[in-house]
Formats: sequence, C-alpha cells, structure tokens
Amino acid sequence: MPLKKAGAVYIEVGMILDETPETNEDSLITIDRETAASYISAGGALAKLSKAFEERPVQIELLKCIADAFNHNLLGVYEAGTGVGKSFAYLIPAVLWAVTNKQRVIISTGTINLQQQLCEKDIPAVENILGKKIKYVLMKGRQNYICKRRLVESASVLDLFEDEGDEIKRIADWADTSSTGSKSDMSFMPDDNAWSRVNSESDACMGKRCPYFNECFVMKVRKQAADASLIVVNHHLLFADIESRVSGGGYEDAAVLPPYRHIIFDEAHGIEAAATSFFSESVNRFKINKLLFQLYRKRKGSESGHLCSIAVFSQNEEKLEEAYSLTSKIKNDFLNLEIAAKDLLERENTLRLCDSTARTFGPFLVSTANLAASLGDFTNLVHLILEGVSDDDRSVPSYWESKILLGRLENYVILLKNFSKWDEKRNDVYWIQKRRLPPDMVKNGEDSEYVTLTQTPLDISSLMNSGVYEQMSSVVCTSATLRTGRDFRYWCGRTGILFAEQNRVDCRDFASPFPYEKNMLFAVVSDAPFPDRPEFQQWIEMALPRLINAAEGRTLILFTSYESLKSAHRAAVTYLKGFKGLIMKQGDDDNSRLLEKFKNDNESVLFATDSFWQGVDIPGESLSQVIIVKLPFTVPNDPVFTARSEAIEKRGGNSFMELSVPEAVIKFRQGIGRLIRRGDDRGVVTVLDRRIYEKRYGINFVSSMPDCKKCYEPLDEICHKINGFIFQ
Ligand code: SF4
Repeated sequence: MPLKKAGAVYIEVGMILDETPETNEDSLITIDRETAASYISAGGALAKLSKAFEERPVQIELLKCIADAFNHNLLGVYEAGTGVGKSFAYLIPAVLWAVTNKQRVIISTGTINLQQQLCEKDIPAVENILGKKIKYVLMKGRQNYICKRRLVESASVLDLFEDEGDEIKRIADWADTSSTGSKSDMSFMPDDNAWSRVNSESDACMGKRCPYFNECFVMKVRKQAADASLIVVNHHLLFADIESRVSGGGYEDAAVLPPYRHIIFDEAHGIEAAATSFFSESVNRFKINKLLFQLYRKRKGSESGHLCSIAVFSQNEEKLEEAYSLTSKIKNDFLNLEIAAKDLLERENTLRLCDSTARTFGPFLVSTANLAASLGDFTNLVHLILEGVSDDDRSVPSYWESKILLGRLENYVILLKNFSKWDEKRNDVYWIQKRRLPPDMVKNGEDSEYVTLTQTPLDISSLMNSGVYEQMSSVVCTSATLRTGRDFRYWCGRTGILFAEQNRVDCRDFASPFPYEKNMLFAVVSDAPFPDRPEFQQWIEMALPRLINAAEGRTLILFTSYESLKSAHRAAVTYLKGFKGLIMKQGDDDNSRLLEKFKNDNESVLFATDSFWQGVDIPGESLSQVIIVKLPFTVPNDPVFTARSEAIEKRGGNSFMELSVPEAVIKFRQGIGRLIRRGDDRGVVTVLDRRIYEKRYGINFVSSMPDCKKCYEPLDEICHKINGFIFQ
C-alpha cells in the first residue's frame, strides 16, 4: 500500500493505531487518499461485505477530496447530490484521521434523523468496513438529559407544583429504568413545564459536589465524549460550544464539547439558519412572569419559591422583601411596554427598529429602558442574596435553582438594554412581534395578545470565519444543495467562507448518480395566472385536484403560506369526494406520524409547508409527484430578511439577486429533492408558478435543476403527461 508523508512520520493507513491522547500538530500523519478510497472501490472491503455493492466513482472522488481536506488543512465545500453516498465518503477519512492522529472529529448535522442514522447505521457499518471498533458518541445539549438531583428535588416538593405533579412522577418512573436519561429515548413526550423542572442546566449543575455525580447521565455522556474519536452533534450544540470558546474559553480545553480541530458539517445548507436561531434571544411577559413566580411568590399569606427558600441562609436576607416589592413594578413596566408596542404595531404583526422607524419607537424605547432598570434592580438584589449564602450552605437545591433563574433574567436585562442601544449595535436586528395565546392557555381574564421583543444577528459570516474557519485545521461542509445557479458564491458569502484564506478553500460539486434524465419529468403549467394575481388562489384550488387525479394521489404539495394551504386543502377535500387515498394537511397530526401515513398509503396526498420542504425522505411509489405551488421567496415583511436586504443595498448590491433569489433557489432545490430518493424512483415535479420561465431570474432556478425531461404546457396537457409518465 502507498505511504504518505507528513512531517517526519510515515504510516500505512490500513493499520489503525490504538487510541492515545491527542497528537502534537507537528507530528501529524497524512492519510493516503487512494488507500482510503480502496475501502469503497470494486474489490474493496465494502464490496466484500455488501451483496448489493455497486462502485460509485462520484463517491470515491468525494472521499478523496475529504481525505485531502484533512491532510492539507482545507475548508472543503462539497455539494453531493442525492445518492452520492456522502456519509461513507466523509466517515471513512474522518475515522482514519481520528484514529491515526488521535485527533477528535466533530460531525455536525441539522436533523436528529441524520444523527441517528449516523450512529445507528453508518458508523457501525464503517467499523465493519475498516475492520476496527472506534469510539463514538451522539451528544445532545445538556437540556435533553435528566438531572437526577433536580428530579429527586422536584419529586419531593410536588405539592408546590401540583400542575406538573403527575408528569414529574411519570418522568421519575421512566428515569429509574433508563440507561441514558435522554429525552429522545422516552416513550412519551413530556410536558415542557415539567421537563424544565427536571432537566440538566449548566447554571444548576453542582458538578463534583453533587450527590448524584457518579450516576449522572450528563457526566456519563461527557466522559464518553472525552474518550470518543467521533462526536456527532447538531448544529445548535456546536454553536453553543463555539460561542463559549469565542467568548473566552479558547480552543485548547473542554467547553460544551471536548477540544477538537476538525469539523464536518453535514446538511450544511442549514448552517446560517441554525446559527441565526442559536444567537437570537427573545423575551415576552410570560417568560419574565414565569421566572419571577418560580423565584418568589405569595399566596394566601404564605411565601414560597426558590429565592424565598435560599434567603434564610443568606446574610442579606433583608433584601428579599425589597426584591419582592419590585416584582409588581416589573409586571407594570412590561404592561406599559406592551401598550407602547401595540400602539406602534397598529395593524402590523411585526415591526423592526431601524433608521426609518426609530422616531416612532421613542415611547416604546422609554418603556424598554424602564423595564430594563426595574428588572436590573431586581437581579442585583437576587445577586446580593445569593452572594450572602456561605459556601457550606450552597449545596441547598434552591441556591442552584435560583442561579438558573437569575441567569435567564440577566440575559433579558441585557436584551432590553440592547434595544435601547440598537443604533450602536448594527450587527443585530431588533424587532417586535404581536402574538396571541391559544384560548385554552388564557388565565383569569388575562390579555391573550402579547408582544415579543427579539434580537437576531444580522450576519453570521464573520463569526463563522473567526470562530470556526480560522481556528480549525479542517472544515468540511456538505449538503445536496449548496449551489445556486452554477456556483457556490451565495452560500460561501452567507456562511463566511468568502472571508477565509482562499488558498484553503476547495469548492466542488458531485452530481447525483441517479438517472434523472430518464426518471424525472419537470412540468411547469403555462396557463396559470401569475402568483401575485388575486385569481391565483382560486385557480390552484381548481388545478390541484386535477393534478392529484393525474398522479392517482401519491402527491406532496409544497406551499409557502399556511393560509393558502388550508384553503386549497378544503377545496380538494370537496372536489375529490370519493377519492380513495387520504387527503392530509400539515397540522392535522404530528409531522412524523403524517409522513408515516403518507408512506404507508400509496394513494395519499399531503398538503405541507415549512419543514416539509426539506428532510422528507420517502422512496418508492407513495411519492410520485411533488407540486411546488409558488417559488419559495421569503415574505418581504420578515424583519430579519428585510434588514439583511437593506445591508446589501447599502453596500451597493442588489438584494433581490444577491439574497432573495439565491435563498429561494436553495429552498426550491430542497423541495424538488424530495422526489427522487433511490435510483429506481420515478416521478414528476410540477410547478404552478410560471415566473420560473417567464421572468429573467427564473434561469437561476432552472439551471440549478438536474438534467431531466422538461415541459411547459397548459394544465390539460400537463395532467395528461403526468399520468403517462408515472404509469407508462
Ligand atoms: S452532576 Fe449536575 S447534571 Fe448531574 S445530577 Fe448533579 S447537578 Fe444534575
């Protein structure tokens, strides 16, 4: 076998070394790309293990590029179409690198489904292919695990939390028999409020002082992670780790995760959305009231709450009454803030604080500053009470619970203060939104309408560059949809790769090996009204039943608006009376159960939006037609999207072509990617939005499609062709 050189050390990659602490950067050993590729080539280990083996040259090429990324410290951006087999293509080099160099590799994905597939199927398969066991772990955020201390303590004070009593007992019974303590292993979905009383929280963790330390689920998974060569996480957890490193933790020691120098992002098309959501913070009256209630409450003359319980141990006990007297001021300040916000919003649901609205935001900002001040005074008092507790008394549970609640309130104080200083903090978007509580959640004549204040990062590219690309030896980003048109510029710009050292960047596209030209028809209806015409909705309500009949059900219909979806679904149920398949819509049931029914009933139809544009994986006849009702442009009144568009215009760019179109192209590609999941799948993508052929920007969508049969004809003709294509 060929040998490769790195520094002064040579090694044959087929020989996997035992695990020892991390290797010094100077003595790293490269992995041989040809040898690594031989495992999945004809005559290799995979061929010997799998009867259905077929060599996939495109998978071999991708694997070699990923091996190069490890060897040469690259930032690899690799689009790999459906069926390339990207998980083996990155797992084999990742495992070879990790065990050869004793360096940990993080694999970050967007969905739990992929994490489970990697840990339950793909990594064990790679162990077989390589003929060696490796240490790996699926790590979730600590809030997903039971904290035994909090569970025992919550169960012992159930009378205080009667609402959640039964649920906490149920969780406790389950925890007694669980070996993982992980929420995803529960046979029932626990109530959110009950779960938040018993899950692990970093602020409430007593670490080695905890009486349950040796049997702690979180400590167990942390230990497994510390020993593991591969750690599988979701993007959120990885960003939590990166945040703590960027804000002072550094990259040498353990933070949320143990230290690492190599990351593979799978489902990398979702990085910007995941980072945006992770780094966003929002507050409303219910969030604050709930925390205050947990800290201190008075009912029928008796006092309770965690702050009340811990104050008796504090030298500053007298601050308790002062703190309590502030709670009504805080609630009043929030109500005033809501009045000011509703005045501002009038008939709008969202409004952004920016140059053009700043003048009208005046009274609202005064209310925000008042609330920040009263809440800040309250948190200062809580601090004093907790500081007054001696070290010996800090093992009291209420001390740790109060710390969690204080930390959350302090975050809200920062958020409220940031609103007042918005014009100095132009890297964030500040916006307010009017929402309504469901009727069954409204208590004691409370106002069901409430206002949420949110701070969202404008741009995550510089954080990605300084926090990830500059710090890591190698980063591989892969997904089936990273390009828009024929290049990666949009995705690389949004996620900061454009700002990284360009001689480290390697962008490539690995086309799907599936025979799209034979198995997929792309049909655009030429006699549909344009989607901005008022008659469009009525037209789709007439057209959809005909398209569904043409495919005899088997159809996933992707909408961009839930209102439009509901109305079209109602019409379809009326028009299709006697239709033998199920006619389902998103919201009728839990998403995974809807998909299960869709998969099991060949003739069924599913009307869907949002999350169904991606991640749906239904091979076979059940899904023979995907209908895209409108090109998936983000609605122009989305405050974050508007702020991002304005930032582009400000630097002289064209936000429509630089943001709206490419963002919609990626979502569109995700949508059409639902159709062909296996080499023998066959079906039609039907688009009801003829802007794709009649507007100049449409070429960006069409050129992002795989080569396949295409037609652009009136509805009658299209229905005929769909039927002929599917049932030929
Ligand atoms: S060690 Fe921390 S997370 Fe574990 S049981 Fe104790 S307090 Fe909870």
